[in-house]
Amino acid sequence: MRTAIFDLPTVPAGAQEDPVEYEPRTDPPDWARAGVPDGTEHYVFDHICREVRGDDLEAFEQLAPGGTYMDIPQELRRYDDQSFTDKYKRLEWDLPSRTITAHIARDGYWYIHPETHRTLSIREAARLQTFPDWFRFAGFPSNRYTQIGNAVPPLLSYALGTALLAADASSDGSVVPRGAALLRATADEYWEALGLWELLVQEVVFNGRASHGRVREFLERYPTPEHAAEMRAPRHDHERRAASLACRVLKEKGGAGDLESIRRTAGVPPAAALLIESLANGGRPPRSESTLRVAERVSGVHRTGSLNGVSQVTLSRIADFGTDPGSNQLLLDIGRNVCLAENPLCDECPLAQACSFRRHGSIVGDRSAKAVS
Ligand code: SF4
Repeated sequence: MRTAIFDLPTVPAGAQEDPVEYEPRTDPPDWARAGVPDGTEHYVFDHICREVRGDDLEAFEQLAPGGTYMDIPQELRRYDDQSFTDKYKRLEWDLPSRTITAHIARDGYWYIHPETHRTLSIREAARLQTFPDWFRFAGFPSNRYTQIGNAVPPLLSYALGTALLAADASSDGSVVPRGAALLRATADEYWEALGLWELLVQEVVFNGRASHGRVREFLERYPTPEHAAEMRAPRHDHERRAASLACRVLKEKGGAGDLESIRRTAGVPPAAALLIESLANGGRPPRSESTLRVAERVSGVHRTGSLNGVSQVTLSRIADFGTDPGSNQLLLDIGRNVCLAENPLCDECPLAQACSFRRHGSIVGDRSAKAVS
């Protein structure tokens, strides 16, 4: 409180003079007076405040710094003191303010000045939200309080922006560096928890078109690639595919245990490998338009179109599966910044190699965009 507003001139309850002369009681914080327009250096605007009712004034006079509604005498409590235990609050110079919310537009009882018997002025509320003094607010006083209470504090925004720029500067310069790096870093860990074989069965053996129940039933009979490789006289196509795939996977150095093996395994299409990798990274991005757009373009199947190649189950698993925030971020980043609804930036996309849309220029039922080659 002291840092943010102590320099401002003392004004009484109901002060309406605007602007008032600025004769600082102490040094203001650097950000507060920077940028004040020439000719207004000796004034402060919006330093106006509400009148205080007589009974409230009596109550405020009873409140020491830090005091709340329960600290005023019973006979001065106008509100139900069972429900409104902190209806009033006198702020303290050497503690942070209460958070300024838009409710300050309705009454200022949560924000009683530390030493004057009134609620905060518009400029004091703005200072606590870190607005510099050159920033003006529009409308009636209640409109101005609302704008301040609803705002993201400028210095908080500055801190967030600075952190994001620093993160970007430390990247390798690609468009989605953070998400992609997280995806790679968490991949192997997630494989162990989810099971490569389960994903291979779903995405390759059943080509992404089987229900979870059917996949589960199959996995109960063939819980590992070793079981499938020993299958005798497979009768159905998917059993033959599973036996053959299991043999190929087991020939790879890492077997069913790592991502590189699955990428190297003959007969695993790049798109399937990519999907498996995405699933294995446990993404749970919000089921947003942009993440589903990425999913359907990579898979090559429109979400409302035919289920040829990858199922709605798979699409929903890309969007809903797992808990790892890294792959969430990846899909969100790609969806928002790269895989745009129109003119997607395929040249910059880390999914480009495995993307059906990139290869074929369209997907079933989607005529909204053309891949940029
Ligand atoms: S390669 Fe192009 S179409 Fe495919 S996901 Fe990336 S940006 Fe989207």
